[in-house]
Amino acid sequence: MKALVKQHAEPGLWLMDVPEPETGPGDVLIKVLRTGICGTDLHIRSWDGWAQGAVKTPLILGHEFVGEVAAVGADVQDIAVGDLVSGEGHLVCGKCRNCLAGRRHLCRSTIGLGVGRNGAFAEYVALPASNVWVHRTHVDLDVAAIFDPFGNAVHTALSFPLVGEDVLITGAGPIGIMAAAVAKHAGARNVVITDVSESRLEIARKAGATLALNVAEHDIAHAQKQLGLKEGFDIGLEMSGRPEAMRDMVANMTHGGRIAMLGLPAQEFAVDWAKIVTSMITIKGIYGREMFETWYAMTVLLEGGLDLSPVITGKYGYQDFDAAFDEAATARSGKIILDWTV
Ligand SMILES: [Zn+2]
Ligand SMILES: [Zn+2]
Repeated sequence: MKALVKQHAEPGLWLMDVPEPETGPGDVLIKVLRTGICGTDLHIRSWDGWAQGAVKTPLILGHEFVGEVAAVGADVQDIAVGDLVSGEGHLVCGKCRNCLAGRRHLCRSTIGLGVGRNGAFAEYVALPASNVWVHRTHVDLDVAAIFDPFGNAVHTALSFPLVGEDVLITGAGPIGIMAAAVAKHAGARNVVITDVSESRLEIARKAGATLALNVAEHDIAHAQKQLGLKEGFDIGLEMSGRPEAMRDMVANMTHGGRIAMLGLPAQEFAVDWAKIVTSMITIKGIYGREMFETWYAMTVLLEGGLDLSPVITGKYGYQDFDAAFDEAATARSGKIILDWTV
């Protein structure tokens, strides 16, 4: 089968013929239809410091996908050949305290699909049945391909109740934009999103943000003034990993405000802890998706009319992966889809 492989420990990706994945009795073999390109994949292609530490070559990349079940192992129940499926890309140990308690997203020994083991940028991918999500209601194939990052957005956005609240999102990458759409759909009053990319801010406006603020021109206090807020934001969703974004967020939170933090900082940085203490701010780190509560929430949000179409801005055949990765790396685009059926 064709697969996008990190074949050598150097920048680049290689489209190669490789053997189809082997499956055990508890596994599902999936014919991949479409995949989404993630920041993680860009790191692995460029072979930066993080990738060099996290990846052993050769490796098939990719964790965002939708596909059709091609075969199921003898022990697999309730998943049938032909089912349309996506996959939870975090494979957990099943043995640690959190796994045993059903809090699988908190597993200490998580292995990432397309990072710690072969992934979904291929014609076929194999996954344990316990990681497979069957789409039992109609879902657009491009949207189904990005259930993984959509799950990051939903997990972060719904971390704290936000009905009627004023929500600040720092970082208008695809996950930040999806979080804005989710927050608005779920009943937030104002949803302000910040970035320095005008084209991404434009996508965020289409996705339903109340105000998309270019922080190269105005700080967040300016947005408060524009919306007539007097006491600061109730909920913060940090999606950029940037120190200046976190600092500006903390400075603009209300007393008792709550911050969910998904953006991964590249290194340690200082924030105004005295302000966090005296404003009694809660900060919660977010990683991955809750299995499978977040997946349930994603499905019902879409059923309820949530529209993610503005966030998908490019589509390529898998042979054109280099152009697709280049576009995804521009920081101007939304989500870029690779089609594996062309
Ligand atoms: Zn991803
Ligand atoms: Zn575990």
